[in-house]
Amino acid sequence: MGTVWFVGAGPGDPDLITVKGRDLIASAGAILYAGSLVSEAALRWAPPGCAVADSKTMTLEEISAWLIGQAQRHAVVVRLQTGDPSLYGTLIELAQPLDAAGIDIAVVPGISSAMAAAASAVESLTLPEITQTVILTRVAGRTPMPAGESLAELARHRCTLCLFLSITLLKTVQDELRDAGWPDDAPVLVVHKASWPGEERIIRGTLADIRERCRTARINSQAMIIASPALGARHWPVVAKSRLYDPTFTHRFRRGATPPVEDKP
Ligand code: SAH
Repeated sequence: MGTVWFVGAGPGDPDLITVKGRDLIASAGAILYAGSLVSEAALRWAPPGCAVADSKTMTLEEISAWLIGQAQRHAVVVRLQTGDPSLYGTLIELAQPLDAAGIDIAVVPGISSAMAAAASAVESLTLPEITQTVILTRVAGRTPMPAGESLAELARHRCTLCLFLSITLLKTVQDELRDAGWPDDAPVLVVHKASWPGEERIIRGTLADIRERCRTARINSQAMIIASPALGARHWPVVAKSRLYDPTFTHRFRRGATPPVEDKP
């Protein structure tokens, strides 16, 4: 019996898969990928003769049956997922039938689209004295939000919000952020197909106009929404510096000019 590896394929650029993920693909007997987002990586590194299938039209039962069948024939079976497998994937739904069938599984993390979107836009999701917290969430679509996790509640923290699966629900996003007290001029960023060579688009706007901007740009799928008080900081005249690099700050690798006051790393 082989092992089924859940491999994070990264956000779209085939070069953004991990070395470990690529090596597993190169040694795989069978690969099941999730739709067009990750097909490139699968096809680029799959060995000749490897069984490669798209799960786009399969049900969860068909997917687990396919993986179980392949694991009975091959030592390495890869389930390629977009971004990181721990976020909005079907890891647990697939792990359970594989566990029941006595098949070993393992997970290789991937670069999430939240990180790729920040990278594309050259944004920092945390900034000293502005926000030190990132919330990865979504608004309710067909999947309802658990109690206490509405965007209006989460947004009260005024930290960075990375919104998955919500680009068609920008009206709800606007309403809930306003409910939480975010001003109309709060910066909002949308990155469509982050990291996809030649296809990525970056839309910058405010809470008031981001929906219109996305409509004009015809962006209605595969997009990450980032709302954060740290957006655009690259162009601010004054930014609080990280304490770690302060000349007076002593830490494990450097003695500061004067003794540290608080906060050792
Ligand atoms: N596990 C994935 C998320 C899967 S849910 C991850 O870690 O990124 C699918 C949602 O992810 C999409 O609706 C979109 O919000 C986001 N997404 C995935 N790939 C993206 C990309 N290349 N650019 C922008 N958003 C992306």
